[in-house]
Amino acid sequence: MIIWSNKLTNFLNKSTIIMGVYMKSIYGVTIDELEGLLVENNEKKFHAGQIYDWIYVKRVDTFSKMTNLSKSLIKLLEDNFYFEKLEVIKEQKDKDVSKFLFKLSDENLIEAVLMNHDYGNSLCVSSQVGCNMGCRFCESGRLKKVRNLTSSEMVLQILKVEKLIGKRISHVVVMGIGEPFDNYDNLVSFITIINHAKGIALGSRHITVSTCGVVPKIYEFAKLPFQVNLAISLHAPNDKIRNEIMPINKAYNVSTLIKAIKDYLSITNRRVTFEYIMLDGVNDNASNAKELASLLRGINCYVNLIPYNETENISFKRTEKEKILKFYDILKKEKINVTIRREFGGNIDAACGQLRAKGKVK
Ligand code: SF4
Repeated sequence: MIIWSNKLTNFLNKSTIIMGVYMKSIYGVTIDELEGLLVENNEKKFHAGQIYDWIYVKRVDTFSKMTNLSKSLIKLLEDNFYFEKLEVIKEQKDKDVSKFLFKLSDENLIEAVLMNHDYGNSLCVSSQVGCNMGCRFCESGRLKKVRNLTSSEMVLQILKVEKLIGKRISHVVVMGIGEPFDNYDNLVSFITIINHAKGIALGSRHITVSTCGVVPKIYEFAKLPFQVNLAISLHAPNDKIRNEIMPINKAYNVSTLIKAIKDYLSITNRRVTFEYIMLDGVNDNASNAKELASLLRGINCYVNLIPYNETENISFKRTEKEKILKFYDILKKEKINVTIRREFGGNIDAACGQLRAKGKVK
């Protein structure tokens, strides 16, 4: 057993007590943390890369299989880390989308959605159990936040799905259950782990984080060294509509949010995506489209129009196809980059939080 130094207090705080001993999931350890731990214990830094290779390339699930490490180093790892499990309790498939319901070690349920695109396999991961943001169209918003996910629980969603499908995930979108910027530190650890060349090695540009508009964190996110994509769940062209459907707007209104995005762009020079769920009779008429175009004019962005997945618990209805196309045409004419999201998963409860909601009822 090692003695933890003060420098590692934070690290220790993220640990779990197992059989009365502080243990940390190995899947939640960044390579820098691992190197620090090795140096603290008179081991060579380079072993961190070997350990990462065993975990994320060779995908072993016991330390004893790491045959190029000394017995004492394996003992050090065994004394301080464990291989956390994530149990799949339900999987639903429909053509090119699969949805996975996971049970966490404390019995809480989360979900991830896999979408097969022609450019690769994209996984939408959850960042919290439930969500406190309360977006009125969202199933997850009905299930209040129980807790944040640890970085390891986020990493494990990728590893588990890759194992189940026997293929690599090429793109990760943090857009499942939860508001990732309400779990900021774990989100940053998660990105650090999956982005590292010796880890899962997902390129920054293949990772997207979506926020409903937690403005202070947009500024923090802009300063990170990663080239990770940012998506904003905008869903309304003005405060009146946004206040009605997204309570976050009362804390950070549309003009505050747009200013933050402009500042983000001037720092990062990276294009942002605005997500816009089309809700029948709420935000989908021609004047809404024109107002949206004028709000976003001059911003390096594209708009993703999303057909709404109706749920039995929420009264919002999806906008009909012709109206979505008209909205799209108006934005195009106004020279706004716009796409309509391919419809995924309507038959398998792929709307955020739906599978979890049903899993809980059973
Ligand atoms: S849309 Fe996202 S931020 Fe809003 S309630 Fe749902 S999970 Fe939370």
